[in-house]
Amino acid sequence: MVKNPTLDNDKQSSATESKVKTTITVARGDGIGPEIMDATLRILEAAGAPLDYEYISIGKQVYEQGHTSGIAPEAWDTIRRNPVFLKAPITTPLGGGYKSLNVTIRKSLNLFANVRPSKAYTPFVDSAHPDMDLVIVRENEEDLYAGIEHQQTPEVTQVLKLITRPGTERIVRFAFEYARAHGRRRVTCMTKDNIMKHTDGLFHRVFEEIAEEYTDIESDHQIIDIGAARVAAQPEQFDVIVTENLYGDILSDIASQVAGSVGLAGSANVGENIAMFEAVHGSAPDIAGQDVANPSGLLNGAIQMLVHLGEAEIAETIANAWLTTLESGIHTADIYHPDTSTHQAGTLAFTQAIIDRL
Ligand code: NAD
Repeated sequence: MVKNPTLDNDKQSSATESKVKTTITVARGDGIGPEIMDATLRILEAAGAPLDYEYISIGKQVYEQGHTSGIAPEAWDTIRRNPVFLKAPITTPLGGGYKSLNVTIRKSLNLFANVRPSKAYTPFVDSAHPDMDLVIVRENEEDLYAGIEHQQTPEVTQVLKLITRPGTERIVRFAFEYARAHGRRRVTCMTKDNIMKHTDGLFHRVFEEIAEEYTDIESDHQIIDIGAARVAAQPEQFDVIVTENLYGDILSDIASQVAGSVGLAGSANVGENIAMFEAVHGSAPDIAGQDVANPSGLLNGAIQMLVHLGEAEIAETIANAWLTTLESGIHTADIYHPDTSTHQAGTLAFTQAIIDRL
């Protein structure tokens, strides 16, 4: 077992001893990453999640050590060895510098489906849309994020959009299966096929074909621009949304913000062999190291991870403790509201409040 330096020895070997443990890969990331990862691991340990951890370093600090991809070869070996990877956010330079490691990881591990639930937690957390409860299923490997981008001349740049039939069939089928397994009634596809007739046209066409196989689930299609506007204005209309990589990325930030805060939503990246769990948000360098970050997004990713690992009972215990904390009005700054909050807590105090309610 690789020890977590932030936990004392008694805790490292406590309640989980009797169960067979799953070893998972953990990256603490940068920005607020280490703070929210430590918070999440403390809660997992306190809840008795039967896990062992292998820590890897990725992102900025690894890049600065000379690995231009932001990840060392040994870290890939660790990730590939374990069934699950719990990853804190990492900083990716804007408009230059090294390539997004998040995108590289998703592609290299064939994590083709990105599942991003967004739900309002009213009355505990202030939200203009109390009935909102939607899930975005985002295609995770293709589209404009496929990495086919280059500089033609100093003044001309180009990126190619890649949409394939097998990739689309796989994600659309995943969305319908997800809907069926989770008792959801409708899958909405969003594309811009009025303009991008080949790429988005294919995605939409494949969606219509596969929808016919799922007669028990309703289906519809919306153009992404009006669809995104409706997610912002009437999110309660939606159930499961399946869409392409870039649209899904943008839409899920909108959805999590509309639900209450970008700091609340967790995310699963699912492949055939490995799955990676994370928060929807980024490394938030503007609030790093200040003990104000909300660890809920990563914690919700970890709850999805426990369900994936067959530990639904522990997942539920943690989710209930988290909800009870929200219910008692103990809120981090991003969700603090005078009408719904009783106490503004930092990351550490919020984490302790959850542990106290396990
Ligand atoms: P961001 O999500 O990091 O932050 C956006 C805003 O939300 C900021 O004001 C931040 O303070 C706030 N916020 C985010 N998470 C919060 C939390 N848990 N608690 C309280 N407030 C929170 O987006 P950004 O600033 O555009 O990106 C920063 C960096 O993160 C960039 O380098 C970007 O590439 C990277 N990023 C990484 C991931 C990932 O690792 N999965 C995802 C998105 C962005």
